Amino acid sequence: MYRKSIKTSVRFESCLSLILVSLVFGMFAITDYHLLGVSKEYYLLITMRIVVVSLCLLLAFIIGRWGSYSRRAWLHALPLWIIATGIILIVPLRPESLFTQITAVVVATMAFYLLIPNLLTVAMFASLYLSIGFLVSAVLFAEIAPVVTLRLALLLIMTNVVGFCALLRLETLQRKQFALLHEERDQNRHLLKEIAHRKSLEAQLRMVAERDALTGLDSRGHFMKRAEALLQRSRLEKMPFSLFMIDVDHFKSINDTWGHTHGDWVLTKIAAVCAQSLRPTDVIGRFGGEEFVVALPDTSPEDAQIVAERLKKQVAELPLKEEMSELCLSVTIGIALAHTEEADLESLITRADQTLYVGKRNGRNRVVMCREGMEEE
Ligand code: GH3
Ligand code: MG
Ligand code: MG
Repeated sequence: MYRKSIKTSVRFESCLSLILVSLVFGMFAITDYHLLGVSKEYYLLITMRIVVVSLCLLLAFIIGRWGSYSRRAWLHALPLWIIATGIILIVPLRPESLFTQITAVVVATMAFYLLIPNLLTVAMFASLYLSIGFLVSAVLFAEIAPVVTLRLALLLIMTNVVGFCALLRLETLQRKQFALLHEERDQNRHLLKEIAHRKSLEAQLRMVAERDALTGLDSRGHFMKRAEALLQRSRLEKMPFSLFMIDVDHFKSINDTWGHTHGDWVLTKIAAVCAQSLRPTDVIGRFGGEEFVVALPDTSPEDAQIVAERLKKQVAELPLKEEMSELCLSVTIGIALAHTEEADLESLITRADQTLYVGKRNGRNRVVMCREGMEEE
């Protein structure tokens, strides 16, 4: 996962460092000329350098385009082996400059370890190949004394150990840092999920508290809150305000005749009629079992009467289930008007309720309006 995360940057960095390293390697042709002059060895060295530089540039191009770091690690290892071979081949052609070449080998070994991120084994094998190859080449072609070979071997071992430890430490640190970042991201994701879950729970709770489960209308408590706010605004703006108390007539007998499920169905139908026939600014609540309450802001007594009559008519015309064909569904509506400044919602509801019972007493299936304590049908 870490390798995947650094994939793009590594591809670019590998490409860039390969170009730089191959150019530096090519520039050493100047040293070759200085040391060998125009000779057979010089031409061989130039040819070798051209081959190495060309291969490295080709690989830089390939890595830049297709060098998937996580899947094709060998592609990143290949240039190291080519450069190492190039450095080793210098020894037989320029054996007298062996001691300046040692510096080049040390620098190249450190570069192998430090320029190839997160591929410790790849860097280690290429560096060991360079060190051993250089040593063997030095023994064979530069004819160095055994004690010098030993000193050279010790120097190269030290270079490899330092390079290896430096890269190991760097890799461990980078991986730890990545693991921490990953963990933090995981926790953040978890936290976001938790927040979303809590928000949905909150919405569900609000829904349960504010909505009536059967009809979907406002619950009694929520209706009171919203109607209170509307009443206060009407009072401030000196606008008329009406309140309906609606009760289904003989609802108990519906339950007794067709069962509670049918009774529930009738209630939902009536609730839907109320919601459809009233304005969006009106607030409708389920007050009790088969009682509904409606707050109508900015509604004159005349309009309230018309709206209530229309509602009563729509309920009576509700299409019912087949088995309920003999049912004459009706509601009685009590209307209370808030015309005095002191009128509060509770007293308005009490008045609407009392008016409703006047309607019940007078035979049901009617709209009754209460005005300043007067009851009028
Ligand atoms: P009235 O015309 O005088 O209003 O008579 P009513 O039968 O409608 O009034 P009553 O108060 O006697 O009966 C109301 C019935 O409504 C009693 C109760 O079992 C029933 N009820 C209350 N809540 C629900 C409900 O959520 N679903 C169903 N199916 N019935 C309910
Ligand atoms: Mg009732
Ligand atoms: Mg009733």
